[in-house]
Amino acid sequence: MVYNWLINIQHCLLCDEPCDGHPLCGPCEAELPWLDGRCATCAVPLPTRGLVCGECQKRPPSYDHVEVPWRFAFPVDALIARFKHQARWPFGRLLGERLALHLQHAFTEGLPQPDLLVPVPLARRRLRQRGFNQAQMLARWLGGALKLDGKFVKASEATTDLYSQTLHYGYGVFEGIRAYSTENGTRVFKAKEHYNRLKNSAVLVNIPFDYSTQELVDATYELLEKNNLTDAYVRPLAFCDPNMSLSKPNNVSIMICAWEWGAYLGDKQLRLTVSSFCRPHPRSIKIEAKVCGHYVNSILATSEAKEKGYDEALLLDSDGYLAEGPGANLFFEKDGVLFTPQLGNILPGITRATVLELAEKHSVEVKQGLYKPEVLASADSAFYCGTAAEVIGIESVDDRDFPKNWNDSLGKKLQEAYSQLVRNSEKTLSTAH
Ligand code: PMP
Repeated sequence: MVYNWLINIQHCLLCDEPCDGHPLCGPCEAELPWLDGRCATCAVPLPTRGLVCGECQKRPPSYDHVEVPWRFAFPVDALIARFKHQARWPFGRLLGERLALHLQHAFTEGLPQPDLLVPVPLARRRLRQRGFNQAQMLARWLGGALKLDGKFVKASEATTDLYSQTLHYGYGVFEGIRAYSTENGTRVFKAKEHYNRLKNSAVLVNIPFDYSTQELVDATYELLEKNNLTDAYVRPLAFCDPNMSLSKPNNVSIMICAWEWGAYLGDKQLRLTVSSFCRPHPRSIKIEAKVCGHYVNSILATSEAKEKGYDEALLLDSDGYLAEGPGANLFFEKDGVLFTPQLGNILPGITRATVLELAEKHSVEVKQGLYKPEVLASADSAFYCGTAAEVIGIESVDDRDFPKNWNDSLGKKLQEAYSQLVRNSEKTLSTAH
């Protein structure tokens, strides 16, 4: 039965006749026991519409309205029984999706849209016997079909549960994405790559993630349009349900916010200091995942650097090799060759990958490896790169200036190429959306 949801040629779940892409064929759909006349309050069947039954008039119930598509008659009663008592979930899913269609129609006719769905709780003993909560499953299918999650809310009006695992343990994953105003309108740079990384981050740390890259890309464009944003920073965050235990969550939500943002670190070149904090060891965390909690390390390093009067920190890995910045990857130039720390102890930056592509295009040789800070100290020039920072030159590390003029460096050449790619080129279009 489950395969019915997966195969191309669908058969009607009720009469088994072939039907194109729908779980029910037209005739079976029409023969469902549609409820027409009903009490406007409790939905008990009545001969005509728009009336309130005697019972509700005598003793008005505590609820305002019950919305019911069908009478409890064949085949709906049989579907419910098979779903509930025989665990035949495709029938439940069918009911959930038909119910969603009915509600969508009712919304267009003026029924107020709900803010959330609350499944009726199931007694513990019954839950143990049955092994699943049919109301919760229905609510999930219904919520998915109604896209209740896909709402736009003002940041100041948004609410979240204070018992979220993300708030307490930093157990969530996020992305930093940029949108640029281009000749072809607003373009989100490498949108797919960022949402793929978001999903990968979630998978790496066992956070369930049911969102498709395409729906998140589409939601991002919609968000930017609604807020009239063109040059903007986009921040998606997948956060966990309330759960105070140290176990993986059952459910997550995703929010995407965006704000206008010009250059992050400015046009000037950076004065760095080697941080007293090292990057977390890859055996302590999943270093290649962009996990909220990892950023305490970045905040500590940045704050320390700023307190010492520098612009930004440079972090080593736990073995003392060059790693990366608190939110950017490192490149340096020596004798016409570019060097960058290899993957393994760093976040695999999407800008880093783009710089590698651009370097190849411009026939610049790049070596990836493990390098000690002494190697950087003898370099000709260096730069950081990241979505927010883009490509930005480094003037000095711990007050030792790089000898090469930034304008003559490979970094400058790649900075220009990057700036062109994100803002102007056709390639932005094909890779971004
Ligand atoms: N390293 C770290 C620690 C970061 O937070 C970031 C920013 N996401 C980067 C590198 C650069 O990654 P990207 O180019 O994908 O923005």
